[in-house]
Amino acid sequence: MSQDTTPDTSELASESTISPSLPMRGVPQPERASVLSLPDVHISEHPVVAHKISILRDRNTNPPSFYGLVRELGALLAYEATSDLRTVPTPLETPLEPMVGEKLAGGVGIVPILRAGLGLAEGFRQVLPDAQVWHLGLRRDERTLEPIEYYNQLARAVNLQVCFSVDPMLATGGSAIDALNTLKRYGVPHLRYVALIGAPYGLLKLREAHPDVPIYLAALDERLDERGYICPGLGDAGDRQFGTL
Ligand code: URA
Repeated sequence: MSQDTTPDTSELASESTISPSLPMRGVPQPERASVLSLPDVHISEHPVVAHKISILRDRNTNPPSFYGLVRELGALLAYEATSDLRTVPTPLETPLEPMVGEKLAGGVGIVPILRAGLGLAEGFRQVLPDAQVWHLGLRRDERTLEPIEYYNQLARAVNLQVCFSVDPMLATGGSAIDALNTLKRYGVPHLRYVALIGAPYGLLKLREAHPDVPIYLAALDERLDERGYICPGLGDAGDRQFGTL
């Protein structure tokens, strides 16, 4: 089922001549307070998460520190987003005596959306080292606005208890919705969506498009600017992780 596709470079070259679009110009956005009580939206209230996300937002945080913090926040969000997973009783022997312990019932999948999702996925792997990681690269066709998959390492979802789609910024919601559409088309079950920072606009769009998918955020910000950046946000999460500033 997995497949590799390389981008059509002639198409990319012609895209570079298109002037940058301003997706949010004149588009009404919901107030932060109005989306706080959407169903199955979990916004972290953990003080360590608040502490780390504040350092992440700081423009003076350099790429190596930024990447380290994204990984740490990924691990903390993995902890929060797995708190209700099922376990099965598992007999074992301690050095002292036999007992019945617990193991997670079924496997875990992690789907980082390229490329900004890579740091979060690494954090998830620290908590869930046995998880399968399936990379997914999506971009929008500038003309049709249809999602184009340029990289896909989705595997057969055998006996998964849960699959996390991870991407740091839930901005307009477009790539989150596209990624979950793709995962559903591949038959991936029990999806959850995890991001560091959400905007009210993208959160509402994602909730409407995929009401069955629980959403986990470290923080919910105020709005999107004209270019679709989250404010106050942290800037470009991909560039800041990988030093392409
Ligand atoms: N993607 C980013 O990296 N940052 C934003 O603010 C929005 C989308």
